[in-house]
Amino acid sequence: MEIPKACDFCMLREPDWMYPCADFVLMSLYNLPADVSDREIIHSVSRGPWEACDMCHLYIESDLWGEIADRATLGRYPTEIRTAIRAMMMSGWRKFQLHRTGPAQRVEKRKAA
Ligand SMILES: [Zn+2]
Repeated sequence: MEIPKACDFCMLREPDWMYPCADFVLMSLYNLPADVSDREIIHSVSRGPWEACDMCHLYIESDLWGEIADRATLGRYPTEIRTAIRAMMMSGWRKFQLHRTGPAQRVEKRKAA
């Protein structure tokens, strides 16, 4: 079964653009079991290209990351955690920019069956 594709920035369905991207560690989290000396680091890895909807693509090309963060978080998260989520997203997107390997390519639209 194919998982429906979504914009990697705002989660809108059926993104129109694809950014070729090298694999990279998106974030590292400490897992803290009962015995802290035994803690391990969990890496969240980004693999392969990122996809973007038309609007996010426009913002990416215009370097308007704050606009994308608004788009991705407004109305989706309570105000008290929105700032933290925005910061987390922006940090991931900065890494995405560093690991991009080429210009955006248009995605062939998959015809609805
Ligand atoms: Zn989007």
